[in-house]
Amino acid sequence: MEGLTPERIVETRDPAGTRALAGALAAAARPGDLISLVGELGAGKTQFAKGFGAGLGVTDTIVSPSFVLMTEYRGRLPLFHIDLYRLAGAAEALAGGLIDERQAEGVTVIEWAERLEDAMPAGRLDVLIEGTGDDPRRIVLRAGDAGYARYIDALPAEFAALAAEAGEPAAEGSSR
Ligand code: ADP
Ligand code: MG
Repeated sequence: MEGLTPERIVETRDPAGTRALAGALAAAARPGDLISLVGELGAGKTQFAKGFGAGLGVTDTIVSPSFVLMTEYRGRLPLFHIDLYRLAGAAEALAGGLIDERQAEGVTVIEWAERLEDAMPAGRLDVLIEGTGDDPRRIVLRAGDAGYARYIDALPAEFAALAAEAGEPAAEGSSR
């Protein structure tokens, strides 16, 4: 029932807005969750990861790991931050070992997650960020399965939804 997969589109006007959105979503986090961040260089994936970590109570500074595949941060739940930017060629080889037992206890946030292709489990929250530079960001939040709809449901009303391109009515104020 793909058409019923919960989806929400939000616009943010600055990095603080993207971090606040991610922080609000983190309230819905449960152990074992997977968050897929997709968007070009400079879209704001790391800003999102920072805000999500803040929402989990991570106090250490979340940075873009340069040569580290995965960084673990301590919060209400552990946060596993993965950045596949420099791993295009190796992604396939790594895919098998990317999701290990430790991650069942925390939330895994993956930048450039599309590089894992079919190795990405369907059970995940997709975060697609469009826009770079000073442009506002159009952020599509899509629940990969019914369990991840709780992220969409957790979104406070202050993150007004944008009307979907297909001409769907804006979900603003409604609680579908
Ligand atoms: P990525 O990890 O996707 O390559 P970063 O999060 O590292 O991107 O960088 C995003 C850049 O865009 C930052 O310099 C940030 O200040 C800037 N920016 C401007 N507006 C926004 C916005 N609405 N959301 C996120 N980042 C923004
Ligand atoms: Mg980044």
